[in-house]
Amino acid sequence: MSNGIFTVPAPVNEPVLDYSVGSSERESVKLEFEKQKSEVSDIPMYIGGEEVFTEEKVSINPPFEHATIIGHYNKGNASHATKAIEAATKAKKSWANMSHTDRAAIFLRAADLISGPYRDKINAATMLCQSKNIYQAEIDSACELIDFLRFNCHFMELIYADQPLSSSETWNRMDYRPLDGFVFAVTPFNFTAIAGNLPTAPAMMGNTVIWKPADSQIYSAAVIMEVLIEAGLPKGVINLVYADGPEVGDIVFNHADFAGLHFTGSTQVFKDLWKTIGSKLDVYKSYPRIVGETGGKDFILAHQSADPKAVSTAMIRGAFEFQGQKCSAASRAYIPATLWDEINKYLAEDLKTVKMGSPEDFSNFINAVIDERAFDKIEGYIEMVKSSTDAEIIFGGKCDKSIGYFIEPTVVLAKDPQFVTMKEEIFGPVLTVYIYDEKEYDKVLQLVDTTSSYALTGAIFAKDREVISYTTRELSQAAGNFYVNDKPTGAVVGQQPFGGGRASGTNDKAGSMMNLLRWTSPRNIKENFNSPIDYRYPFMG
Ligand code: NAD
Repeated sequence: MSNGIFTVPAPVNEPVLDYSVGSSERESVKLEFEKQKSEVSDIPMYIGGEEVFTEEKVSINPPFEHATIIGHYNKGNASHATKAIEAATKAKKSWANMSHTDRAAIFLRAADLISGPYRDKINAATMLCQSKNIYQAEIDSACELIDFLRFNCHFMELIYADQPLSSSETWNRMDYRPLDGFVFAVTPFNFTAIAGNLPTAPAMMGNTVIWKPADSQIYSAAVIMEVLIEAGLPKGVINLVYADGPEVGDIVFNHADFAGLHFTGSTQVFKDLWKTIGSKLDVYKSYPRIVGETGGKDFILAHQSADPKAVSTAMIRGAFEFQGQKCSAASRAYIPATLWDEINKYLAEDLKTVKMGSPEDFSNFINAVIDERAFDKIEGYIEMVKSSTDAEIIFGGKCDKSIGYFIEPTVVLAKDPQFVTMKEEIFGPVLTVYIYDEKEYDKVLQLVDTTSSYALTGAIFAKDREVISYTTRELSQAAGNFYVNDKPTGAVVGQQPFGGGRASGTNDKAGSMMNLLRWTSPRNIKENFNSPIDYRYPFMG
């Protein structure tokens, strides 16, 4: 046992490599992409540190080329969920008793492995399985995941260092215990970094975890697990199970030791899980912590004092990067009539140059959407616009799933500010614009605030400082991440802690101390150096 009080190295955001023509990183990630694409991997579950293979092999196909098979995952069932809980329970005591510096060392090493030898592997896997171009993969599966791991180690230390006051003759201490049971991490398809963060954040705080990723992200989830094992994560601390959500949920939510849910995904699924948990409170030893980040209907609001080119650029990047499949993606824009012609002209000029296709071709800005279900849903919204008199498509609108699930970046012009594509999360490359009369700015603020049930991200573009200040105040509950003169996507760990209110989630801010606090159940310890030996108080004399 060492007597030093060690501190985690100060975290710094991982530099984003640019993969420009001729760069060494471009060549090496291309080679790794080709290698992975030409192989057929057999991807196991990981339970209690063992690789688990089953008879049920499910093929994994890149969304941009769905006839190609890059691997199979081994599908599990309820029995694997039960085994995962047993493994998590077995691993709990020694993991919780491990010093936090040793736990941090594992996650910091994992960050270094992703920054170095695993960077190409995790980026190429994300390009292949989630159809991200190299830049989108780099900012997600490399940089954001590295940042989560490094910053969370730092935040963990800040939490542990937060100690109560003591008075004379006593010493008060706060012991940051893990939760009394296991944590269930349920992760979405769209960010490899989120898939990595949801199980590791509770694990860092001494919890053991059952992790269920989205089927369409399993290929890159398995790389995260490989990295964690290589970094020295003990057996059973994180158990990765590929089975249907409701089947795993049925085992997890009926277990007395279920102590927390760390969820990111759609709003309806989260509401259903919360209701299930609420209906089973008598089953549990403790009140489970519920953390969920869910959908969005994120806005760009331009004031008449805005720079039109900055607005159109934010619309294109904010709405169409990663095919609009970011929870933060701009999907409704409010533009003053005075600026519309100019913004429309810039949109037209830029959208003409946007290329769509496989991430293999680095000149493609747009790639495929995640799967056929998503494709059909997005196409359904586009068809709805085509048949409506309240809205029209002014750019894009073509959908083709013959080779991959490709949907053109689509801009809809809505006459009715309550048109369905102004309200509902589409989760695809569809941006709806409503043009407002600049004299009715207060009315438009009201629309922004009340049109959708979500409150995740939003942006105001203006040069007028009074307007910026007023809008920021008036829209204080409309977004958990609010941007001034910037697109509403691309939150960076440690800089813009992420999460929304209303139907968008519990707003526990991934990538911040606030999130890590949810995974600890503090115990206060008071020690008296001078224990009383007479029950009588002086006033009684
Ligand atoms: P999804 O809700 O379809 O799936 C999320 C996860 O829940 C998957 O692992 C899925 O298998 C699982 N699941 C589904 N039904 C379940 C059940 N009954 N029991 C247990 N698990 C179940 O979401 P998705 O399509 O993977 O991701 C897209 C959604 O995630 C969008 O709505 C997006 O806005 C949201 N999202 C939000 C944030 C955020 O930070 N707010 C970040 C990323 C994605």
